[in-house]
Parts: sequence; C-alpha cells; structure tokens
Amino acid sequence: MLNEDTQKTVAETEEITITGIGASPGICIGKAYMVDTEGVNVVKRYRIDNDDLVNEINRFKTAVKKAGDEFQAIIDSSRDKFNGHTPILETHQALLKDKMLFGRTIETIEKEQINAEWALKKVAGKLTTMFRQMDDPYLQERTVDVTQVAERILRSLVGADSVNIAEIDKRVILVAGDLTPAETSQINLERIKGFITDRGGMASHTGIIARTLGIPAVLGMGAATKTIQNDDLIIVDGLQGLVVIHPAEQTLVDYEDLRFRYEQFKAEIVRDSFCEAQTMDGIDIKIMGNIELPEEVVSVGDHGGDGIGLYRTEFQYMNRLDYPTEDELFDKYRDVVEIMAPKPVTIRTLDINGDKAIAGAREAVEINPALGLRGIRYCLQRPDIFTTQLRAILRAAAYGEVRLLLPMISCCAEIDETRRLMDQAAEDLAADGVKFNRDIKTGIMIEVPAAVIMADALAEKVDFFSIGTNDLIQYTLAIDRGNREVAYMYHPLHPAVLRMIKRVTNVAAKKEIEVYICGEMAGDLIHIPILLGLGFNELSMNPQAIPTVKCFIRTLNLDEAKAFLGEVFIQRSAEDIRQIIYERYGDRLAQMRITMSP
Ligand code: PEP
Ligand code: MG
Repeated sequence: MLNEDTQKTVAETEEITITGIGASPGICIGKAYMVDTEGVNVVKRYRIDNDDLVNEINRFKTAVKKAGDEFQAIIDSSRDKFNGHTPILETHQALLKDKMLFGRTIETIEKEQINAEWALKKVAGKLTTMFRQMDDPYLQERTVDVTQVAERILRSLVGADSVNIAEIDKRVILVAGDLTPAETSQINLERIKGFITDRGGMASHTGIIARTLGIPAVLGMGAATKTIQNDDLIIVDGLQGLVVIHPAEQTLVDYEDLRFRYEQFKAEIVRDSFCEAQTMDGIDIKIMGNIELPEEVVSVGDHGGDGIGLYRTEFQYMNRLDYPTEDELFDKYRDVVEIMAPKPVTIRTLDINGDKAIAGAREAVEINPALGLRGIRYCLQRPDIFTTQLRAILRAAAYGEVRLLLPMISCCAEIDETRRLMDQAAEDLAADGVKFNRDIKTGIMIEVPAAVIMADALAEKVDFFSIGTNDLIQYTLAIDRGNREVAYMYHPLHPAVLRMIKRVTNVAAKKEIEVYICGEMAGDLIHIPILLGLGFNELSMNPQAIPTVKCFIRTLNLDEAKAFLGEVFIQRSAEDIRQIIYERYGDRLAQMRITMSP
C-alpha cells in the first residue's frame, strides 16, 4: 500500500487534461509560470482578539509602508521617462497616508475587531461610493485612485507580489486567472512560449493579441490556476483548446510529433502566401492583416498580407501613465505606412475603454464598460487627445496610402463632429507649415447594431464600411465577448448576425461604397465561403491566419459561394448553418487543418 507521501506524489504527477477555448493555434510544451494578478480579490473576513489588535494595526502599517516604497521605486525609475512628472503616482503616494483611508482603516480594525484586509476593503468601498456620487468630475475621478491604492496595500497584506510580465526572464508558459490586453501586449516572444487563463473568450482582446503574436493560447479554462502549480510541466494545445498537465511520456512524444507537423504545415502554407488569393473562377480577394502594435507590420508582410485592414492604435496608449505626443504617434504611424507602401494602411482611431482601459483614462471605473465611454465617444469628449491623434494620422498619410477608420460609430453626428475636427487639424497643420495629406479615405466600423440599421444614412457620409464582427456579435446577441460562461453562445454564424452583415453589404452595394470586414470572423476558414458569397473582396485578419485563408480561397468558386447563400439564409440556427457548410465544404476544410492523428 502507498504511504501518504507517495500517494501525494502519484496524484500530483498524474496526467490531467483540461479543456478551454483554443484562442490561438499551435502547440507549446514547457514549465508553468503562475501570474497572480488577482490575489487581492479573495479577501476573507475574520475576527481579531483584543490582545492581537496592536499586531494587526502594525501589520497594516507595514503593508502601507511597503506599498509606499514600491510607489517610490516606480516614481524614481520613471522620472526620466516622464520628464520628472509622475502626478498619478504622487497622488497615490499621498493617498496612502490620507486620514480618510489610512486613519479610518485603523479605526475600523480597532472598533470592529476585524482583520486589516477586510477593514481596508470596507473603508475603500465607502470612499469610492462617496467620490462616485460627487458632482465634481475631478472628485469623481478619485475613485480610481482609491481603488488602485487600496489594491496595492492589499497586495502587500496578502503577500501577492505583482508580476511584471515584461520582466520574466525564463522560457515559460504563463498561467493566469486573467490577463488584460495591456498585460498581454507586454509579452516578450523570446521568453513566453504560450499562455492559458481561467477566464476570457475567443473574441476577447487578450485572445486576439495571442493570435497576432502567433503563440498558442487556451482561454476560459475555468480553474487552471487552481490545478496547475509553478514549474509544472504542461502542454498547451491551442489547436484543440486543451491543456495537459504532467503529461505522460507517450503524450509528450505524440505532442512533439504534432508540434513538428504543425510547424511544417505552417511553413509550407506561408511559402504560397505571397501569391494572390484568387478564386477558382478568377476573382482576386485582398487579404489584409490586423495589427495592435506598429512592430507587427513585419508579420503582416511575412505572411503575405495585402495591406493593413485594421491598425488598433489604442495599444500605444497602454502600459504608461501619460498620453503619447503627436510626434511619437506620427513616428510610429509613418513607420507602418512606409513599410507597407504602396499597400494601404487602415489606421483606426483610438478605441480605448471597454475591455481596453488605459492608465490615464480615469473613466475605467465604469460599471458597464462595454456600453460606456468607449472608442469614438471617449475621443469626442476629449478633443485634445483626439486631435493629437488626427494630426499624427494626417501627417503619416503624406508617406503612403492611409485610410482612416472610426470605431463604435452609432449615429451620423459622430462622423460630422470627427470631420469637423479633422478639417480643423488640417487647417492648423497647414498653418504650422507641416507636411500632411488631408485627402484620405474615411470609413467607419460597423460594430454597433444601430449602425447596421442606419447604414444607408451613414453611407452618405463615408468612403467605406469595415464590419467589426467581434463587437457586432457581442452587441447583437448580448454576449460579452470575453466571458467564458456565455462563450458557447457567441456564434458568428447566428442567423441574426449573418442577416445584419447582409444588410450592410446590400446598403454598401446600393450606395456604391466599399465594404470590408475586419472582425475575427474573417480569419476563421469556416466563414469564408459565406463572406465571399456576400460580396466581400477584402478581408482583414490576424496575420497568422492570412496564409491558410489565402490557400483556402484558391479552392473556392465565387459563383458557387453566391448560390450557397440561398441555402444559408433559410436556416434557423448557427448549428444548422455550420452543418451545411461542412456538408458542402468539409473536404476542402479538412485539407487546411492538422490533427493529432497523421
Ligand atoms: C471588432 O469589434 O470586430 C473589431 C475588429 O474591433 P475590436 O476587436 O478592436 O473591438
Ligand atoms: Mg470593435
């Protein structure tokens, strides 16, 4: 019989497979690196005896001191970067010792005889509610400061040191409860082989970045952080959405083989990606790349992209305390435009908030951010920030073909106001004697159902539409794109979504404007026949998907795809549509995939 210790060892090393959402394809094998971004969320309440009260208060004071030291270290290290100005951190440092937070927490520990974590949470909660209810917007904004300061003290109290992803210096696989898009964008490809998270869904920005980086990722694992421990050997199978913990020897051999075949398959398909994506009946389809960071432009080129269909500019505003300057933005935009020239670059204006909060945008405290001050709404409320970006884009447009794309449009007035700001920016640039180009195509994202309904009116104000299916699906089906609990309902093939898209392509044809698609739906092979049938001749996707999509398009016939729509639009569910796609295109799809058995 096994003794207790041996039993534990056997149990701990037994192979376990957990399933999640395969958000980025590929296989990686390596050691787990636990990233605790949320130890502070699991605070428990417990009673402190009279005799222990002094100790508890001292524990709190020590945590405050530690948090203060951490702030100071960050302030010191960022002085050069921010020309001596670190106002947010300095506010935070002052708040640490503020009577309302510091003093009241100590009072609460004493009076209510409760632990420091609970007392702090209670006091911070009351303070944020108080600030939120104030009329003065400046004071309302203090809620974020209080929350962030309280979180930092809590981290010291519970001993959850925050991990700086950019500084990880081992070849590892990240395991986290969740990663924000800002954290994901700090991943260093030379170190991080892949990642898995408990939460998140296919269309979350975290998943999108994983695909763009080209590293395997499985999201929405549920309880990966409870099952996996630091340094555990794990396999991330982004093709099937599986994670194997403590793999047995045979499993490792099988996965090494699959990884090898997958890499080979990818290399083969990339070789052909520099040729056009032409259907069997001779129609050229442009396949563009989506990028988040300027450096990714290289990946679009390497994967045979015909241009940039979506440059998500908000990532340049993340992981920093201030806003980028016009020159900083211009330099990056010009680089991308020059590298891509003569191919077009579609620069989307700032789409922050929603799930992409940035440090400076205090509105991050919104209770329902997906429906909040996101994208164009934020920009029109902050014309100073918006104008800085518009000027940088107009200047970059002098160096190649730039298209300007506006996110989250839901009414005509937003376009009118943006055009007014653009005219003003152009006038000012001319007065400043700076080189720029005002003559650029301007389009809007169609990603809010209101924009679909209003498409005929909106079409009169713009040169093109670009359908953002990630949000269009989220808002049409009322499914949070990053929520694993409802991920099973997130269906690009839902008849309601397809009808929305059809309505937009019909309007675009009637109004004779271009219509593109840049949501994640465009990068998934199963959707391609329908999208071609609907008349799209330009699709934009994560760069990694370009070669396979091009290869698949070469097996399709446009007339057949158009005729196929007749069958699609009489179906009543996403499952039925998926089924008929497999019946018609299954063989061709199978050739594009690689599976476990050779
Ligand atoms: C979309 O919503 O489909 C889109 C492309 O934009 P994002 O994913 O950045 O919201
Ligand atoms: Mg969107």
